[in-house]
Amino acid sequence: MQIVTALGMVCRKFLSPQSAAYRALTAFYQRLDSLKRQYSRNSITVAINVTQHCNLNCACCNQFSPLVDEYFYPVETFQNECGRLLAVGKQKISMIGFQGGEPLLHPQLAEFFDIARAYFDKYNPAGRICVISNGLLLLRQPESFWRNCKKNNVIINITNYRIRLDYNAMEMTAKKYGVQFEYIEDSGIIEKTTNRMPFDMAGTQDVKSTWRLCYYANKCINLREGKLYTCPTVQGAHFFNSYFGTHLEISEKDSIDIYKAKNIDEILDFLSKPVPFCRYCNWKAAQTQIPWRTSTKSISEWADAP
Ligand code: SF4
Ligand code: SF4
Repeated sequence: MQIVTALGMVCRKFLSPQSAAYRALTAFYQRLDSLKRQYSRNSITVAINVTQHCNLNCACCNQFSPLVDEYFYPVETFQNECGRLLAVGKQKISMIGFQGGEPLLHPQLAEFFDIARAYFDKYNPAGRICVISNGLLLLRQPESFWRNCKKNNVIINITNYRIRLDYNAMEMTAKKYGVQFEYIEDSGIIEKTTNRMPFDMAGTQDVKSTWRLCYYANKCINLREGKLYTCPTVQGAHFFNSYFGTHLEISEKDSIDIYKAKNIDEILDFLSKPVPFCRYCNWKAAQTQIPWRTSTKSISEWADAP
């Protein structure tokens, strides 16, 4: 499947996102990638939304962050969950990614790094840690943050929204402290684009069909409150319900409890299969390469009219 990854990189690097060729190749890449995701993975990256709110307000945000006033993941909760996750997963947990929302809004972010590194040292010394940020607050971080990143070998991943930020200064600061710095899916393209996957509020989608089209399934795996989710959508759907007063049903069958799972293979198997919530996701109607814009918090950014 290396060729699949290479194809995706070529699409992003050399083609305009507005071109027909880019769209066709991206769709083809997604199909191939989805084939890979229908099988249990050998190892997984687990994302932790240390915040759910954000200091950027992107339309169609797949974390529902524009709809969230404030959410901080308790560091004490993570201490327990990280211990359990690594004890059960060991080498099959290859990376922990701290994201949001905007993770740099969490005042105890460095403690999350310390905890993750300590458990990786115990169970999987090759385990990697990254933080995925929009970069707005990166240059305001104190020296202690950078030293902590260096100590814990944290990779800084920046999504380049091409807003007025000094990306060069970020790169130089990371270099100064010996911290690995990367862009997420950097294409060199001036205009950041976004995707929109509308909810089918009636929940009439065929779960297997929509799962096969899904970009997130068994790839963007999230941990929240002791449960692993195969995608960010189910993990954050209660924020959508709460903001719009809707009733998308989120059940026990939509996640796997890391404390109840017997072993890592049970977890990996669960993550490679559709969940009941998939009936709300209308991936057939998903739109890609939409020019980036700010959210108006309209329900139409996340859902089609019933
Ligand atoms: S920066 Fe990311 S998390 Fe924040 S609103 Fe935009 S898409 Fe959502
Ligand atoms: S609920 Fe299912 S279809 Fe929807 S994003 Fe998650 S994995 Fe994909």
